[in-house]
Amino acid sequence: MKIKAFSSFSLCAAMIISAGSGCGAKPSDTTPEAVSRTVFAMDTYMSIKCYGGGEAALDAAEERIRSLEGTLSVTAENSDVSRINSNAGKPVEVSADTLAILGKAVDAGERTGGALDVTAYPLVREWGFTTGEYKVPSQEELAGLMKNVDFRRITVEGSSVSLGSGQALDLGALAKGYTGDEVVKTLRENGAEAGIISLGGNVQSFGKKPGASEWTVAVRDPFSPEKDMCTLNIGEKAVVTSGNYERFFTGEDGKTYWHIIDPADGCPADNGVISATIIGDSGLDCDALSTAMFVAGTEKAAEIWRSDPYFDMILVTDTGKIYYTGGISGFRNMSGMEAEVLSVD
Ligand code: AMP
Ligand code: MG
Repeated sequence: MKIKAFSSFSLCAAMIISAGSGCGAKPSDTTPEAVSRTVFAMDTYMSIKCYGGGEAALDAAEERIRSLEGTLSVTAENSDVSRINSNAGKPVEVSADTLAILGKAVDAGERTGGALDVTAYPLVREWGFTTGEYKVPSQEELAGLMKNVDFRRITVEGSSVSLGSGQALDLGALAKGYTGDEVVKTLRENGAEAGIISLGGNVQSFGKKPGASEWTVAVRDPFSPEKDMCTLNIGEKAVVTSGNYERFFTGEDGKTYWHIIDPADGCPADNGVISATIIGDSGLDCDALSTAMFVAGTEKAAEIWRSDPYFDMILVTDTGKIYYTGGISGFRNMSGMEAEVLSVD
């Protein structure tokens, strides 16, 4: 089968803009020195910039990333995730990191009516998104695999996790968000006063940007991912985007199939949303929600947000419309697309 495949190696969903939004004072002599590093991990480029802490803080952050990659990878043989999958039906002792992510995965699964379901992994694999052997599975294949997709069958007891027999999971929808939280924590513990990181499109900031009141972040245009769609200003926040342009292939039928699967039909989610960005305090939470809102589609996503609007959100539809929530600071739309504010009532 001739298939054109694209991956997220060079396409980060959100980007850090170097200029600050504020008109505050220039960095003073007491501003801690900025250091930065790019790391390739979890199948993506990660950039880390911090003020204070120096190379030692970057070393500690890189070490934390490598360790989490080893724990959370769905392909590495001895990762927690692989051990859970190869022992489906039996309890497996896992790390506190895996437990924290799974707890959020189950919680977000409940809250979004199953739009996020980490046990969708057999579907993700069948479409080829983990193996690179892309294909359009038959309806029969999908129906067979969907029988085992149900996050409610995950059992957590103390520090052990078991899946229902026949199930398999992958934490790809949340892993980078959790890693962002852990990188920020590690940088702080190692003397960094402020910083901004981008883990393949998951942007997260902490502390006050020297010489500016806020950090400015750009979100990509899903129709032209090389361009910025909009910018926004953030204090200490995570900005996480799930987009249809991050990993996809074109099938023999000429249709484009992307990596976010709707557990309701086993196919790439096609409910009208082609990019979902979540802005909030926790990278883990934002990552869970960005994937879930992409699957949910505009109406359901707005409903979920309205039921507990503790985060902000930018949705882009396949018809070229932007919906964004009113709490976003300094929202600037450069795309020419119509943008509508979502209100709580
Ligand atoms: P993200 O880029 O954070 O939206 O995560 C996408 C990744 O999550 C995919 O590459 C799959 O590994 C996994 N995934 C795809 N669909 C789902 C889903 N409905 N629920 C949970 N994980 C998913
Ligand atoms: Mg996600």
